[in-house]
Amino acid sequence: MTTGTMKAVVLREIGTPLKIETLPIPQPKRGEVLIRVTACGVCHSDLHAVDGDWSPLPNLPLIPGHEVVGTVSALGEGVEHFAEGDAIGVPWMYSACGHCEFCLSGMETICLKAEATGYSKPGGYAEYMIADAAFCGRVPTGVDPYELAPILCAGVTTYRGLKRTNVKPGQWLTVLGIGGLGHIAVQYARAMGMRVAAVDVSDDKLALAKSYGAELLVNASKADPGPEIRNAIGGTHGAVVTAVSAKAFEQSVGVLRNGGTVCWIGLPGGKQDEIRMTISGIVNGEMSVRGSNVGTRQDMQEAIDFAANGLVTAKIEKQPLDAINEIFARMKKGQINGRVVLALQ
Ligand SMILES: [Zn+2]
Ligand SMILES: [Zn+2]
Repeated sequence: MTTGTMKAVVLREIGTPLKIETLPIPQPKRGEVLIRVTACGVCHSDLHAVDGDWSPLPNLPLIPGHEVVGTVSALGEGVEHFAEGDAIGVPWMYSACGHCEFCLSGMETICLKAEATGYSKPGGYAEYMIADAAFCGRVPTGVDPYELAPILCAGVTTYRGLKRTNVKPGQWLTVLGIGGLGHIAVQYARAMGMRVAAVDVSDDKLALAKSYGAELLVNASKADPGPEIRNAIGGTHGAVVTAVSAKAFEQSVGVLRNGGTVCWIGLPGGKQDEIRMTISGIVNGEMSVRGSNVGTRQDMQEAIDFAANGLVTAKIEKQPLDAINEIFARMKKGQINGRVVLALQ
């Protein structure tokens, strides 16, 4: 038993600042694990949760955070595939029902009964948290927990999105938006054998993409990415959009060559949730536009393996729990390069 109190970041009311509170350490029920959190990445979705940008709203009071790496501190009844002291990861998908049409067909990401870590369930901006043992990731020993944390959302999300473009090794892919997700998307794409074009409005972020192997760079504040990329290489076979600007979504079909697939991953939210697109461009070129919502447990385990083998490394900045309001303020201004990770230990 682990008892006592813990420090946690708590949201009591939408639109109010987050507060650091002292709460009792929760106890694991059947099928659950208590995790001592080591690291928790700060994802743009946490900002959407706290600002109340999405419907339904998160359950309050809320402890945000869904990029968690920690160690198993206590086991609930019936948990046999983890032991106390094991390294463990918790993603956005807290649980899914396990028996609906989607769960049964390997699409648990769209289960209608799914719960979300740090949204409908308390998350990892805390010294301890509860997770559903069946949906946690196994973390290999020797992996840096702080660098691994962003893989639990930014990693798995971009990895699945890339798979859903059906781009093959040797073919071209455009990554639109080189932020917390995008800088990881470039690395997965390269590790999967794709050739990469990168689009962003910041030259610094494009330089980061280049350092990871992107061959074609387009600054969207200076040139329209569609014509640029089509003129240079005839368009790319696929694209993923990780940007938080609706404009990037509007531009995303334009970068494709005929028959291409763009997979939307980012969530601009709020007023930016609607865009205009050209029907004929999609019809005549037989383009596909798809969405991708985080990843399955299998996607998560594969995404972790890429990182554990050194093929993908999140660029991180460690910060203490107390800095959370300041981190969110910087995120709103687009002043974060890579990913901020809360260091709980
Ligand atoms: Zn996330
Ligand atoms: Zn289900």
